[in-house]
Amino acid sequence: MKQASKELFILNEPIIVLFRRDLRVFDNPALHSAANTGRPLICAYIWETEQNREMGAASKWWLYYSLQSLKSDLNKIDLNLTVRKGLTSQALDILIKQTGASSIYWNRRYEIENIETDTEIKSDLTKRGLSVKSFNANLLSEPWSIKTKTGNYYKVFTPYWREAKKHINTEPLPKPNSALSYHEILESLDLDSLNLLPKNSNWGNKIKPYWTVGSEGALNALSNFANGPIKNYEENRNRPDIDNGTSKLSPHLAFGEISPRQIWHFFKNDLQMADKYLTEIGWREFSYVLLYNNPKLADDNFKKKFNNFRWQKNNVLLDAWKTGNTGYPFVDAGMRQLWKTGWQHNRVRMVTASFLIKHLLIDWREGEKWFYNTLVDADPASNASGWQWVAGSGADASPYFRIFNPFSQGEKFDPDGEYIKKFIPELKNLPKKYIHRPWDAPTEILQKANVKLGSNYPKPVVEHKFARKRALQAYAALKSE
Ligand SMILES: Cc1cc2nc3c(=O)[nH]c(=O)nc-3n(C[C@H](O)[C@H](O)[C@H](O)COP(=O)(O)OP(=O)(O)OC[C@H]3O[C@@H](n4cnc5c(N)ncnc54)[C@H](O)[C@@H]3O)c2cc1C
Repeated sequence: MKQASKELFILNEPIIVLFRRDLRVFDNPALHSAANTGRPLICAYIWETEQNREMGAASKWWLYYSLQSLKSDLNKIDLNLTVRKGLTSQALDILIKQTGASSIYWNRRYEIENIETDTEIKSDLTKRGLSVKSFNANLLSEPWSIKTKTGNYYKVFTPYWREAKKHINTEPLPKPNSALSYHEILESLDLDSLNLLPKNSNWGNKIKPYWTVGSEGALNALSNFANGPIKNYEENRNRPDIDNGTSKLSPHLAFGEISPRQIWHFFKNDLQMADKYLTEIGWREFSYVLLYNNPKLADDNFKKKFNNFRWQKNNVLLDAWKTGNTGYPFVDAGMRQLWKTGWQHNRVRMVTASFLIKHLLIDWREGEKWFYNTLVDADPASNASGWQWVAGSGADASPYFRIFNPFSQGEKFDPDGEYIKKFIPELKNLPKKYIHRPWDAPTEILQKANVKLGSNYPKPVVEHKFARKRALQAYAALKSE
């Protein structure tokens, strides 16, 4: 073929843009770069049937609405979303055959199994003469790019973040102004056929009012937060009773409806004011460094000495924790918030996780699994590293002997008990003096508030002082082994 006609031919060959956890049109390097070629685009989402770890129920719920929203955002720039399911390699092959696409663009993923899948597909397609391009969309710095002076990855957050900040490219990409869609409407699965919504639709309907899923919801949440609450973030971020104390952007980030670059850019003229907030984005980045370098972060203790920890198996106590029936109001409010809204406040995550691990001596992996299934922001890196941080088994973790007190944490961070009242209405008439420790309230006060301990609200499943001592002994036994 002559050079000119070969180029013309390639100009008309479609590009497949594969969406995964980057469900947005703004600052999407794969989409942006593909649109810039001027070639026809096929935007595709493949519901992977070979998932190494099945997506949790709350994440599937989010994904359903997020794909709906992406579809509508793509339609606004004259593109379609083609939804398929199966093994990624096979579903891609079918799409390539049907369309004659000669290039595939995607944004990179960082879980080992996904890296392996993507590497295999890339190598196979390249051998067959197709071109594959991949990009960084979801992190400020990719997990292999920030190294210590000796060439290792950072295991401690503060020096990591000091270094990482120097390399941030702050410019997000615009959404494509115009894009050329593939000329035919391709067969696409109905989202309902993916069975993403929970069988018990009640549960999905219950969490829906708390969220506006999709990029527009994400950008609104960012702008509302940046136009006020950010100024008090340092004081309010630990207060679960203050509704806008934190940004609640985590599920939007987890599905890539917004990018950390967009967030950084939003504050670029006031980095100092937003420093504390952006440092939290830094923790997300650091979690990816840990996951990339320790692919089994959700299964294996980072600190190996924790392999000998003597966890207790107790399904009754595990269930009491999951359902918010431990008898400790701050812990129970957190677990009920998780069930009711699909999200839990960060301060409360630390306390509920600590309670499971240290007061009940239940393996942190049980808690990690429950959070993974029920959080709308379930993230393979942040969830596993958050659990290991609390357990003391992680890199740069909170020391094991730091045992959060489940009622004084509440007294400190929910001083009027408003958070408790919201999620445990049974306790709403208790005076604030007793709301975090109803077991101390005199009988007439309990009666007046219509609280019947052991009946309409549980007695503590374990006594705090006893549990604390037992946890410290378990740790001491570990040290002496
Ligand atoms: C046991 C445990 C489990 C956790 N599981 C998850 C999880 O599955 N997914 C998840 O996104 N976060 C997780 N976190 C981190 C944190 O609790 C949430 O990111 C935060 O509560 C989300 O609320 P926000 O968006 O309002 O946070 P903001 O305070 O507004 O922070 C902004 C963003 O920074 C990031 N961020 C904040 N704190 C952390 C942190 N400690 N570690 C990593 N990233 C952080 C999040 O992306 C968050 O959206 C976990 C923490 C713990 C202790």
